[in-house]
Amino acid sequence: MMRIDAVKTKNLPFMLYADTHGRIYEHPHLRMLGLSGSVPQAIAEEDLAPMPAFSKLFYIPDAPPIGLDPDTGKTEILSEMAIDGVPHRCCAVAAFLEPGWVRGHLPAADYRAKAYTLPSWAYGAVGFREDGYWVSGFQIEYNPKWDPRNYDDRKLVSAIRRFRKRNPEGPLVRHLVRCATENHCFAAKNLFLGRWEAPLPVSRRCNAACLGCLSLQPVASFEASHERISFTPSREEIVRLAVGHLTHAPEPIVSFGQGCEGEPLTECRLISQSIREIRRETGRGTINLNTNGSRPDRVRDIAAAGLDSIRISMNSARPEVYHAYYRPRGYAFNDVVEAIALSRDLGLYTMINYLVFPGITDQEPEIEALKQLIDRTGVNFLHLKNLCIDPALYLERIPGPRGPGMGMSRMAEILRDEFPNLEVGYFNQAVRRD
Ligand code: SF4
Repeated sequence: MMRIDAVKTKNLPFMLYADTHGRIYEHPHLRMLGLSGSVPQAIAEEDLAPMPAFSKLFYIPDAPPIGLDPDTGKTEILSEMAIDGVPHRCCAVAAFLEPGWVRGHLPAADYRAKAYTLPSWAYGAVGFREDGYWVSGFQIEYNPKWDPRNYDDRKLVSAIRRFRKRNPEGPLVRHLVRCATENHCFAAKNLFLGRWEAPLPVSRRCNAACLGCLSLQPVASFEASHERISFTPSREEIVRLAVGHLTHAPEPIVSFGQGCEGEPLTECRLISQSIREIRRETGRGTINLNTNGSRPDRVRDIAAAGLDSIRISMNSARPEVYHAYYRPRGYAFNDVVEAIALSRDLGLYTMINYLVFPGITDQEPEIEALKQLIDRTGVNFLHLKNLCIDPALYLERIPGPRGPGMGMSRMAEILRDEFPNLEVGYFNQAVRRD
C-alpha cells in the first residue's frame, strides 16, 4: 500500500464504489483518489469541481476501486463490501465529463484482474461529498453551441420530418438521421435543426489503426462506439446538404471528418471537387476538415479547392508516443507536423485536436515537445480533448514513464502563459463570420 501526503485528506470527497449490478455507493470512510498515469494521487482542492450535470457515470466490472484512508494516509483497494449485510464484489466508478471539460485524473482502480477492454470513453475520477458528485477536472471552454442543454430531442423529430420534406432523400441523409437519433451526434442534430456545425462524413477507409478508434475496432477487441459509414456519398448529395446548410444556418460550419468515418484524406478528390462546387454556389460559412493530417500533399489540394479551416488530431507531440497510438500505415509523425505547418502557410485556420491523457500528456518531456511544435508551426487553436480509451490499455501500450504528470490544469496554464496568441479550448471555431 502507498502512503499519500500533502493534502487535507479529511476534506477529500468520499470514494465511490459500485456493486456488480452497477448500483453506486459512497464509502463511509475511504476518500477519493485519482490516477495520474498509473500513480495514485490525492486531488488538490483547486483541481476538484462539482460534476457537470451532463456528465455520465460508469462502473468498471472486475476493477476494484482504490481509496485513501484519511487516518493513516495509506491507499486501500476495496475488493469486497457488505451491502445490507451481504458481501458484494466492488467495482470502480468513473465519470465521463460534459463537453468542454478536461479531466484531471483517471479513476483510481486496480485494473489487473480486468480481462476485457473497456469501450472508448474518457474515464475520469469521481467522488461524493456534500450530497453531490465531485470530479477532478476543469472547464477549458464554454460554447452554447455545444451545450447539451441546447439540444432538446423533442424538437429533433419534427425537424427531421420537415428536413426530409424539403430535401430529396439520399444515403447520406439516412445515415445522418441515424447519427442524430441513435448515436446522439450533436453535429448531425444541427444539420436537421438548421444551425451551427453540421457533419459531412465521406470516408470508409483509414491509413491509421488507432488503439481507441471510435468507428472501427478489430473483432477480438471491444465494440466501437460509432458505426463506420459503409458507403461513399455522392458529390451531388454532399454539395446539396452543404449548400443548404451554409446558406441558411446561423454561424454555419460544415465539417468533413467525423467520428463515424475513416480518414477523409483518403477521399481527397471527392472532397476537393465538392468544395469547389459548394463555393461556386455560396461563399457563406466555414468549410472545415477534421483529419489525421497524414498526407500534406492532399491537404494542399483540398486547401486549394477552398477549405477554410483544418483540425489535425494527435495524442502526442513525441513521435514514439504518437506511433504507439496511431499505428500509422504509409505515413509517419513528421508528415503530420508538416501538414500542420503547411496549413498555416496556406492561410487555413489551423487547429490541433490534442487527445489528452492525465499522467502522460502533462509530463515535462511531452509539454516541451508540444511547445516546440507550437513554436514551429504557429498553430492557431489547441483543442484539449479527453482521449477516449480504456486507461489500462493506453498505459500498457504507450512507451516511457507512466506518470505522474505535473497536472492537466497546470499544463493548460503553462501553454496559455507561454503562447498568448494561441487559443486553447475544446470546440471547432467558425472562421467565416457572415
Ligand atoms: S485516424 Fe480516425 S478513423 Fe483512422 S484509425 Fe484513427 S480514429 Fe479511426
